[in-house]
Amino acid sequence: MPAIKFRGVDFIDFETLLNDDERLVRDTTRKFIEDNLVPIIEECNRAGRFPRELVKPMADLGFFGASLDGYGCAGMSNVEYGLVTQELERGDSGVRSFVSVQSALVMYPIYTFGSDEQKNTWLPAMQKGEKIGCFGLTEPDFGSNPGGMRSRARKVGKEYVLNGEKMWITSGTIADVAVIWAKVEDEGDKIRGFLVETDRAGFKADDIHGKWSLRASVTSGLSLQDVRVPESNLLPGSGGLKSPLMCLNQARYGIAWGAVGAAMACYDCALQYSLLRKQFRDQPIASHQLVQEKLAWMISEITKAQLLVLQVGRLKDAGKVQHQHISMAKRNNVWMALECARLARDILGANGVADDYPIMRHLMNLESVKTYEGTHDIHALIIGASVTGIDAF
Ligand SMILES: Cc1cc2nc3c(=O)[nH]c(=O)nc-3n(C[C@H](O)[C@H](O)[C@H](O)COP(=O)(O)OP(=O)(O)OC[C@H]3O[C@@H](n4cnc5c(N)ncnc54)[C@H](O)[C@@H]3O)c2cc1C
Repeated sequence: MPAIKFRGVDFIDFETLLNDDERLVRDTTRKFIEDNLVPIIEECNRAGRFPRELVKPMADLGFFGASLDGYGCAGMSNVEYGLVTQELERGDSGVRSFVSVQSALVMYPIYTFGSDEQKNTWLPAMQKGEKIGCFGLTEPDFGSNPGGMRSRARKVGKEYVLNGEKMWITSGTIADVAVIWAKVEDEGDKIRGFLVETDRAGFKADDIHGKWSLRASVTSGLSLQDVRVPESNLLPGSGGLKSPLMCLNQARYGIAWGAVGAAMACYDCALQYSLLRKQFRDQPIASHQLVQEKLAWMISEITKAQLLVLQVGRLKDAGKVQHQHISMAKRNNVWMALECARLARDILGANGVADDYPIMRHLMNLESVKTYEGTHDIHALIIGASVTGIDAF
């Protein structure tokens, strides 16, 4: 079977809904992924290795903090940023996760809640990929319900002392700085964000091994035992659970686009394979009605997902997006991508389980994407609360 090369997916001339700048950003990212990530990703996935050599080239293309203004950031529109994440995740969800965390979960809170000194210290260096960040919200006992967190910060003189455990933290062991969310004892247990340099005494990060998903992404546990930071490391504008949720909203938006990329990769691979692979009367499997039904389902759902996330992006650029819009896009598009990956895997038969093709890797990655940044079901509750006015958590 000859190698299958991605050709892009566009059933309804979606292209015409994008402007020249948007198409340029998408095409540049697509070429970068094709030239730099596709040739190495299966090896990275097997080895459980994050392709750190791509950090600098990704920084040079403006991927980090892409939608922020100033500090060397690219100042892209939200739709342009979405198209970047689509193309990144077409390559691999783990690499897209790295960019999402760096941009939406670390640079965004510094940009939004940080002091001028914090912004000047971290944002230019993170944009250039010289410094890496991680985001510590989830704990061993608190995932979907982060408000229950046990991590605590106590004010002692001009310092805060932090204690707690964080779990499932992307980029934890490669980060220079961690955004740590903790309840501040002296402020009635209000949740606030802290910048914790990872070389501080009492801070420890260990990788989580044995993951069958996002293997090209580093995932870690963090432990903070009496970690002292100066009071200037508190993110002054942060306050309450709303602050980390605002960050998650940024990341979820990128994921909603990213899922379209993963689905496109699976669909296009399955379509090309089905035209090459012959079974019964020397006919391509694409000639069988049941195979066509699977392809029709995939292209229909990808097309709907593209339109949904583009409209959410347009609303975001107009300053009109609501968190429930982003929840719908994340929930629908990740579910759609996972279903596409399963159907595509099925169309490839036994070849579908091997890493000569990207499908099984996408399928396994998408299981994590379904869970993180608000699970599929938590987003159903967010949409449900929005339409009924009743909180069902
Ligand atoms: C690879 C990976 C990377 C991650 N990276 C980060 C990171 O960088 N930073 C970070 O802070 N976190 C990160 N996470 C953690 C992620 O955000 C959590 O896994 C997620 O919030 C879900 O929490 P949980 O795994 O504890 O599941 P739980 O909250 O225990 O949920 C388990 C199941 O119960 C369901 N459930 C829970 N509550 C309800 C309810 N009220 N009603 C109905 N169903 C419910 C859920 O939908 C789910 O199906 C990462 C996770 C993974 C897998």
